Amino acid sequence: MITPSRETIAKRIKAGWEPERARKRWTQSRPSRKRNEPSRSWKLRNGSNKSHDANMPLATRPIPQLSEAQKANFAKKVKKGQQDECWPWVASRNRKGYGQFAIQNYPVIAHRIAYILEHGSIPNEAPHILHRCDNPPCCNPAHLFAGTNEENIKDMVAKGRSAKGDRTGPRLHPECMPRGSRHHGAKLNETQVVEIRRRRKAGDFLRKIANAFMVSEATIRHIIAGKIWRHVP
Ligand SMILES: [Zn+2]
Repeated sequence: MITPSRETIAKRIKAGWEPERARKRWTQSRPSRKRNEPSRSWKLRNGSNKSHDANMPLATRPIPQLSEAQKANFAKKVKKGQQDECWPWVASRNRKGYGQFAIQNYPVIAHRIAYILEHGSIPNEAPHILHRCDNPPCCNPAHLFAGTNEENIKDMVAKGRSAKGDRTGPRLHPECMPRGSRHHGAKLNETQVVEIRRRRKAGDFLRKIANAFMVSEATIRHIIAGKIWRHVP
């Protein structure tokens, strides 16, 4: 707290300020708040004792009660269309394309509010709000349904949004995945692997090749079958 200067205090007293009352108000009427207890303002706007946890994932965070003004503000940002059409969020979107809305600086995902305005609340046992249309900015309540975390993941996989094929980590960042002779446990290198395959094609016995390269016969078999060193042609 900034302590006001002597002049400021004199000015305030002249204007009718009572220092004793102010001091009392500061020290006595202020209930002490325990660590980790939600602030009073949060309780007021959320109507619950549930803490506003900034670490809670946006996708399942509880949403505070909306005032009429906030509801009107929300409606302005949704471009309503026909009942079967998507109603896109026209205001700001997050990185994944979902609409974002702030309730007194508390960030929430727009389509979750659309669901609440239609159904009253989000069921506790199904805290995710999913899109039937798979269109992230869509806020048409007819396209939304509540689901569990598993349902959300299943839905993501079914609609092809999960990381697979060329979208997996090792494909996106091959430099992070040491293959072949870059692997710390590698017993062979790329040239040797090419040579092993050539020899086998020429009709050499597995045992003979294994001895020549000082690896097991199983290793040679796996190389020939393409189970290991698959990235080497
Ligand atoms: Zn839609």
